[in-house]
Amino acid sequence: MKVTLVQGDLTEQQADAIVNAANSSLLGGGGVDGAIHRRGGPEILEACRKLRAGHYGGGLPTGRAVATTAGLLPARWVIHTVGPVYSGSQDRSELLASCHHESLRVADSLGARTVAFPAISTGVYGWPLDDAARIAVAAVRAAETSVEEVRFVLFDAAAYDAFLTRLSA
Ligand code: ADP
Repeated sequence: MKVTLVQGDLTEQQADAIVNAANSSLLGGGGVDGAIHRRGGPEILEACRKLRAGHYGGGLPTGRAVATTAGLLPARWVIHTVGPVYSGSQDRSELLASCHHESLRVADSLGARTVAFPAISTGVYGWPLDDAARIAVAAVRAAETSVEEVRFVLFDAAAYDAFLTRLSA
């Protein structure tokens, strides 16, 4: 598997699937989640509502992932995952790694070969960039998957630099 980096907007990516840093309600939020729903149109929210009405009545647990249509976005699917909120007193890195493993597992089940990830948990959920980059890069490198390209799409230069440092380590 090839791991690539891009500084840019996740919603513009030509990839089989993009990963949403969602919250457990699946009903939208700010940050990258807001951008995905804004640009992808109402079909994504509609699909999320159906998940809430069915299998995910209690919401999507932290560290898990589930796919929907990508609506109007260039990707085919959005894989929603819920990152852990950063805690200085508790080690939640397994949950952050799990977001990456579970997203790739869902990608495999869809037959997706190219998957674009944002820097999960590094926005509102407060995870320090360097640490999140370390965990994300290690998690995708360790994954057993048929995905051929994992692309990290970093919104700003600081996030890009953090991932670049980890990738070249
Ligand atoms: P979380 O709640 O998991 O922290 P956020 O959406 O608040 O999720 O932030 C996750 C990361 O996504 C942050 O680094 C933020 O800068 C970045 N981000 C926000 N919008 C976009 C976008 N359109 N494309 C790529 N990354 C984005």
